[in-house]
Amino acid sequence: MRRILIVEDNEKNLKLVRDILQAKGFETMEAGTAEEGLALVKLHRFDLVLMDIQLPGMNGIEALACLRADETTRDIPVVAVTASVTMQDQSQITRAGFDAFISKPISVREFIETVSSFVGKPA
Ligand SMILES: [Mg+2]
Repeated sequence: MRRILIVEDNEKNLKLVRDILQAKGFETMEAGTAEEGLALVKLHRFDLVLMDIQLPGMNGIEALACLRADETTRDIPVVAVTASVTMQDQSQITRAGFDAFISKPISVREFIETVSSFVGKPA
């Protein structure tokens, strides 16, 4: 089964993303902070990480750097999911090395297409 980690501090956004992914047959795990997400990545195998950028404590860009710095986690696809919309924010996110970018509020169809491009159809 394809397992996806959602790192998101907003309960409504988290629920929306979780409901979409579970309806599509993916297994999900959730973290409300980057620190919590990094701890889960050490304990479980994930096919994809969906990373909010603005988080309490460590932000999503810093969390990505931690994942990329560790050889056991550097190959996991990480998609930024963020309300940041300025060109400056977008270019910062791209330069940080995320595999893709989904802007909030999310379009369900675009969201599913982007996720599927990394994990395919749920097994
Ligand atoms: Mg947030």
